[in-house]
Amino acid sequence: MGALQPLHLLLLLGLILLIFGPRRLVATGRALGQSWRALVAGWRQGQSAGPALLARPCPRCGQWSTESARYCTACGAALPS
Ligand SMILES: [Zn+2]
Repeated sequence: MGALQPLHLLLLLGLILLIFGPRRLVATGRALGQSWRALVAGWRQGQSAGPALLARPCPRCGQWSTESARYCTACGAALPS
């Protein structure tokens, strides 16, 4: 008793489908996905605008580059990912 078993989850899912209807469930899922994407996008923007902008030193010349940069801006060496 107490723990949720797969059958219980299935019954719960069926009940939710019965109450809200499949169409509304799909819309809810889509809205959830959109807010999740917006959250991730905002998080990425905040990260790139923050103090972590200069995150990696160049292995060849020591020049600090942005986290997203693939090549050193000073000497052009490939940066480790
Ligand atoms: Zn360099």
